[in-house]
Amino acid sequence: MSVRINNLTISYDHRPAVHHLDMLINQGDWLAIVGPNGAGKSTLLNALAGVVTEYEGDIEGLYPESIAYLPQQSQLDKSFPITVYDLVSTGLWNELGFSRGLNANQHNKCEEALEAVGLHGFENRLIGSLSSGQLQRSLFARVLIQDQHIILLDEPFNAIDTKTLIDLTSIIKKWHENNRTVIMVTHDLDYVREHCPKSLLLARECIDFGVTKSVLTEKNLRHARALSEAFDTHAVWCAG
Ligand code: ADP
Ligand code: MG
Repeated sequence: MSVRINNLTISYDHRPAVHHLDMLINQGDWLAIVGPNGAGKSTLLNALAGVVTEYEGDIEGLYPESIAYLPQQSQLDKSFPITVYDLVSTGLWNELGFSRGLNANQHNKCEEALEAVGLHGFENRLIGSLSSGQLQRSLFARVLIQDQHIILLDEPFNAIDTKTLIDLTSIIKKWHENNRTVIMVTHDLDYVREHCPKSLLLARECIDFGVTKSVLTEKNLRHARALSEAFDTHAVWCAG
């Protein structure tokens, strides 16, 4: 199951946040999306997740029911009074619908996912009482029980401790070994060089896409920074 993006432009109020993007993502790819702040990384992920639906161009081979999405933590309302268990079980939304309560099998899946992320015993904690690392572990547990072909992670390692980073990386490695497609936004270029075979360097437009080593060159990174400084100071309008 591959995903092909054809001439994708996503705009807010006529200002393109992602501009004329073409790329092919193969099943089993572990792809990093990197680029300056405001480069359109979250916007692209939101379009892949089906959260943003207004765009020009098209995205082929994407089915919302085969995607698990971990949003940027800043997009979450941590004051929402939900327990870790209930947060994780919302990952079963597709099977649960409006029915109340989990059957034994679904309950076991939640418990196994919590165990896998090291949060056994945290079931009844409110998410507002968790550290960033624990909240991120909960969100990974939610992705785990969704058990999807395509996994989208928006800055999964922002503001978390090293131990959590190592533990969650081993979960991503298992997804990768099982031929899941993992697409992750991150600022950590050392992490990308070490772990992610492919990269997209984005500065609204694609600066480069392909094998990480050839994408994350000094020249490309300079180019991305220069473009980002330009769109900080000039309004960018899509000229088609
Ligand atoms: P990144 O994740 O790379 O930092 P974003 O995709 O969040 O970038 O944002 C890209 C651009 O789109 C930024 O200029 C941002 O201000 C703008 N933008 C993002 N979301 C919205 C929105 N909901 N409404 C208007 N503009 C937005
Ligand atoms: Mg973002």
